[in-house]
Amino acid sequence: MNTRELHAQLAQLKTAAQMVSKNAHAPYSQFPVGAVVLLKDGRQFNGCNVENASYGLTNCAERTAIFTAIAAGVKADEFAGVVIYTPSQKAYAPCGACRQVIAEFFAKDAPIMSFSDSDERQWQVQDLLPDAFSFQPGGSLRAKLQEG
Ligand SMILES: [Zn+2]
Repeated sequence: MNTRELHAQLAQLKTAAQMVSKNAHAPYSQFPVGAVVLLKDGRQFNGCNVENASYGLTNCAERTAIFTAIAAGVKADEFAGVVIYTPSQKAYAPCGACRQVIAEFFAKDAPIMSFSDSDERQWQVQDLLPDAFSFQPGGSLRAKLQEG
């Protein structure tokens, strides 16, 4: 799938992202968000935000979609892009926690598309979280820290 095909495929997932936002559990923020992750083989996984009375336990739509895909057996090298819907004027970028999770599973140049009722924005993973934290299993934490 080339870049143009990928962007076209992501644009077609906007309706799915908007639809899944209706499933959000967002009684505190009243801000139901939907996200769809697209895999390289064309499969898609949907997610919505799931809030909690203990706010810190809230899970965003983007992470819900990614974790749902992982639970279904998807591997890191299968992810292609993300589409996010926010019910707002402005299209919102993913939060910091979601950026780190996206960086774990997507290529640095993978497209992240966000849209709202009147706005649309797009980035690559490396734009949202340059120099993302990564950990090499078996590597020395001290050595990693010294590398800076
Ligand atoms: Zn988030």
